[in-house]
Amino acid sequence: MKVTDVAIQLAPQGQDRLRGFCCITLDGCFVVRDIKIINGPNGLFVAMPSRKIMASCPGCRTKNHLHARFCNQCGAQLPSMVPAGERVKMHCDVAHPINGDCRQMIEKEILAAFDNLLADLQAAIPIDHHAADDLVSRLTTYRQKAADLLHQAYGVDLGGET
Ligand SMILES: [Zn+2]
Repeated sequence: MKVTDVAIQLAPQGQDRLRGFCCITLDGCFVVRDIKIINGPNGLFVAMPSRKIMASCPGCRTKNHLHARFCNQCGAQLPSMVPAGERVKMHCDVAHPINGDCRQMIEKEILAAFDNLLADLQAAIPIDHHAADDLVSRLTTYRQKAADLLHQAYGVDLGGET
């Protein structure tokens, strides 16, 4: 199996550890969305798409978060699903590799694509500088034209512009 496409969306600025979202295509025919690129204590890593584990309300069967004390639908008080003082898994992966080799292969592809994206963005910065210079020179031209027109129409001299 190969990762044949990686599409990355950078996380908005100001995120603490989340660096981006990612969508991969496997063998050109299977897509996995909502993969996260996270900056952990040991560098970047990839988190598989996951969902919150829910529990059904005994009254109306609506699913609520494990920590919910009242049902979102009917308002009934919910039995405690999380025993006091115990750590309970709150999320489970929706799609994930089942061995280390596959996890490494997918992570390598995603992080390489992420590096490329960052390099592309940095390479694009000089183009932005160029665009800014271009804008400044166009504005200067407009100012000169405006000064010329004022001079011709009203004899006003803005001084040094023409
Ligand atoms: Zn309910």
